[in-house]
Amino acid sequence: MAETTAIEWCDSTFNPWTGCTKISPACDHCYAEGWAKRSGTVQWGNHPRRRTTHAYWRNPVKWQEHAVAFFAEHGRRRRVFCASLADVFDNQVDPKWRRDLFALIRACPDLDWLLLTKRPQNIIRLSLLAGGLPWNVALGTTVEDQPRAGLNLPHLLAAKSALSPLYAFVSTEPLLGRLDLWPWLDPHQLYRSRLDWVIAGGESGSGARPMHVEWVRGLRDQCQQANTPFLFKQWGCWVTFYDRDIDDPDWRRAPFTDGQMGSGATRYLNLAGGTGFHGERVTAVRNVGKKAAGRLLDGVEHNGFARTAA
Ligand code: SF4
Repeated sequence: MAETTAIEWCDSTFNPWTGCTKISPACDHCYAEGWAKRSGTVQWGNHPRRRTTHAYWRNPVKWQEHAVAFFAEHGRRRRVFCASLADVFDNQVDPKWRRDLFALIRACPDLDWLLLTKRPQNIIRLSLLAGGLPWNVALGTTVEDQPRAGLNLPHLLAAKSALSPLYAFVSTEPLLGRLDLWPWLDPHQLYRSRLDWVIAGGESGSGARPMHVEWVRGLRDQCQQANTPFLFKQWGCWVTFYDRDIDDPDWRRAPFTDGQMGSGATRYLNLAGGTGFHGERVTAVRNVGKKAAGRLLDGVEHNGFARTAA
């Protein structure tokens, strides 16, 4: 929660409060829960959230004061990710805190606020309760697999239509399966029914689940076809080291894998996310850690950003 961050798609993070309850498979290895356990700041789950300090809430005001210099240096407005250690549209939070947050967002008109939620079904109702969505907000939701796409994206795009954010984006991190986003990318749809930006990424940290290279390629290709900006954030911990030939039914040329999950482990992965059967196309992946895994997809770094955020 800082002025600068290693997260590729934003410049700064801000957490109006901390604490959350897990609601989705993407939450299984919640980074924020691990942080909370280590720091002892807040108890995770159905426990009271903890508001951050008054001094900390001054940080965005300072970024606002330096907005002209930031624009001169970067040629665009600062992107603030809110929230990395909580969920802005968490209905277990005191509604007054959200009203205060929206007032802060309005008081910082030269910052683009990226609100990423796993609770898009609450966006419209809780925004109206908080006095309406500030104009300088972009709305995003997490989609880790096809069922979550079907659940979350209609809510996000209903909010785009009702509240007119800067843009609507999806984060597919951690990507846990093959995703067909075309119904929400198709350029023939009305603007308010379309996604404006796709972020993809694999899981990192302890217990990270592997991501199949074809899942990411599929998103890249869909975005290319729809002319939608695509940002590939990271592989996570796992990289592909053998994309098995489908004409190798006995796996004679396939490398040995140990089928484990931890650091240094190797395993097979099929398109459905399972370990695969003989005769099935599988990819061998190795857990090399986040840093070594990097963020190149077929040798290319993908750094697309929503166009209205430029
Ligand atoms: S919604 Fe986000 S912060 Fe909340 S438990 Fe899930 S991953 Fe963690």
